[in-house]
Amino acid sequence: MTALIDSWQRQINYLRISVTDLCNLSCVYCSAGSLPRLSHDDILRYEEIQRIVRIAASMGITKVRLTGGEPLARPDFVKLVRMISEIKGIDDIAVTTNGILLAKYAKELKEAGLHRVNISLDTLKRERFKQITGGDKLADVLAGIETAHQVGLEPVKINTVVMRGKNDDEILDFARKTITEGWHVRFIEFMPFGSCGDEGVETVPTAEIQERIKVLGKLEPVVGPAGNGPAKYYQLPGSKGSLGFITPMTEHFCATCNRLRVTSDGHLRPCLLGNDEIALKNTLRSGASDDEIKQLIQQAVAIKREEHHLSGELAPEVVTRPMYQIGG
Ligand code: SAM
Repeated sequence: MTALIDSWQRQINYLRISVTDLCNLSCVYCSAGSLPRLSHDDILRYEEIQRIVRIAASMGITKVRLTGGEPLARPDFVKLVRMISEIKGIDDIAVTTNGILLAKYAKELKEAGLHRVNISLDTLKRERFKQITGGDKLADVLAGIETAHQVGLEPVKINTVVMRGKNDDEILDFARKTITEGWHVRFIEFMPFGSCGDEGVETVPTAEIQERIKVLGKLEPVVGPAGNGPAKYYQLPGSKGSLGFITPMTEHFCATCNRLRVTSDGHLRPCLLGNDEIALKNTLRSGASDDEIKQLIQQAVAIKREEHHLSGELAPEVVTRPMYQIGG
């Protein structure tokens, strides 16, 4: 097996795939529920996704994350997880989900070979959940978190995007959940895409979040729960869970980036926050050989840039493709 190494000597072993651009929520910073949709034929079929993963696995990809849109909202999603779990060389399959359908599917997903889930949750308040997401679904998400634990989709991580004036008054409530419930909470800095209806949403820098959490006790650095990402983890006194911080804006982690992405309409994307893409779907559908697909994957790795330009000297760059097509 070859290793995928980019121009900056980073080893790429992690593939994130957006399996649909559809979502059953419409979050204020993503608007996935209300913007124009791709047509059915534009979206990669499960067999195509499986083939891409199989070829990528033969090149050194060992970890896969399925995201969207809302992955669990795509019909027969359990089948896709099973198809990927059968691929030799893939030792970690994770899903990023809003959790609404997790109570329903968690057991089947676990049996199909899913290892773990990240669940997005930006508020613990029902009315606010409706405002942020457009859906009255907080109870479903909490039930989904519970079921994910019950069936052993561990570690269950809770992803919280902190937005000034919208949910930053709940930072301490989420932090307390790491003590009372043993949650693994990750605070994510909001990334201004500029193309998703996210105008007016403001990032809260991680340093500020950490400063506010100090009233609950000293944050001790710890080794975080299993994963492949850039979060830095800490624990509060008496906590069974952990607090992770993901800092794409104030301290980017591009130097350790190990990822390649596939958009829901079949483009290879070397960087979440850059607009470079390599078209893959048409080649797949024109009877291309595995070697031809490999070449495209190699090209995508070769054009991975050193770092993103959403913050820093070359900022701001507008990310033209919406998050729900790329996959968060
Ligand atoms: N529907 C699934 C979910 O809700 O987890 C997967 C897709 S969603 C786009 C993936 C993650 O991206 C969510 O945690 C969401 O909060 C996050 N996200 C979306 N837009 C973002 C932005 N502009 N900045 C930071 N995180 C963002």
